[in-house]
Amino acid sequence: MRKWEKLIRKVEPYVPGEQPKSENVVKLNTNENPYPPSPKVMECLKQIDQLRKYPDPAASELVRAIADYKGLKESQVFVGVGSDDVLAMAFMTFFNGEDPILFPDITYSFYDVWADLFRIPYERLALDEDFLIRKEDYRRPNGGIIFPNPNAPTGVAMALYDVEDILAHNQETIVIVDEAYVDFGGVTAQPLLDKYDNLLVVQTFSKSRSMAGMRIGYAMGSERLIRAINDVKYSFNSYTMNQPSILLGKASIEDEAYFQETRAKIMETREWFKKEMKDLGFSFPDSSANFIFARHESVPAREIFEAARKENVYVRYFPKARIDNYLRITIGTREEMQKLLDFLREYL
Ligand SMILES: *Cc1c(COP(=O)(O)O)cnc(C)c1O
Repeated sequence: MRKWEKLIRKVEPYVPGEQPKSENVVKLNTNENPYPPSPKVMECLKQIDQLRKYPDPAASELVRAIADYKGLKESQVFVGVGSDDVLAMAFMTFFNGEDPILFPDITYSFYDVWADLFRIPYERLALDEDFLIRKEDYRRPNGGIIFPNPNAPTGVAMALYDVEDILAHNQETIVIVDEAYVDFGGVTAQPLLDKYDNLLVVQTFSKSRSMAGMRIGYAMGSERLIRAINDVKYSFNSYTMNQPSILLGKASIEDEAYFQETRAKIMETREWFKKEMKDLGFSFPDSSANFIFARHESVPAREIFEAARKENVYVRYFPKARIDNYLRITIGTREEMQKLLDFLREYL
């Protein structure tokens, strides 16, 4: 092997859900929102004529809109290219210790990828039988902690009381709560920011605001943390946020009525879908997200996954220990869920 070959960074990349080319599919595999973004976002899109210029490197208009909406100072908000970018920056900024960072064994599969990429030691702590985080496990020396709430791909939400328990036992390292799905029924850790200056809460426009294609995510934290993560960002790329993202993100925040209406529709569809799935012999942990994580009493998940795919119905299947008999099914429109149910009734 030549030297440069040895010097290549070896990584096993994250595998995103499939994006089929055909339009004619029921797509319930990547937790996208079935509804379009706010009409105000689409209106704003037509008016963008600033593409010739570099965007504002601080994305101030978007930061201000988020800060006002959340009741925070602008200096407490960091924005990035989807929460994936925000989380990657946070790993790079805050997880530089010798002790392993901690996260659940069943969780967002990007965490171990970033840890490997940035050469951060990590330890995966097993969820209990019911896929709940065992908060007592997070009382050991660590270089930082991260978990989603609600967790992915299980959909299980942790009570604020338990999130605080983890923080209370970990005030020496950074604790990141990834709230990608919080708007579908979880409880945000944002109120704990006043008490814990080592807490970083990360949210995204991709799921509840129907803007996955726009790539907007943000972190909320103490001014110290936000300054530190901004320093890393500016050492890497000043212009992470493009002009359309800045303006359209702001337009989305300004349409609160539409946001409330669409997230309520998804939660309503989810609760109806849960009942239908139980009737078909599926079981699942109670989800507070825009997906459910379900197994069937007799038919293996992989078989259902493959059969559905042949019928152009896409759900997500993870061939991984402990979860290889589950399907993660995104909540789409009622009509889409009905198509899936029709398929399942026939197939099973
Ligand atoms: C979808 C998701 C993200 C990333 O979403 P972005 O589109 O990058 O904002 C982060 N964490 C979890 C747990 C997710 O499911």
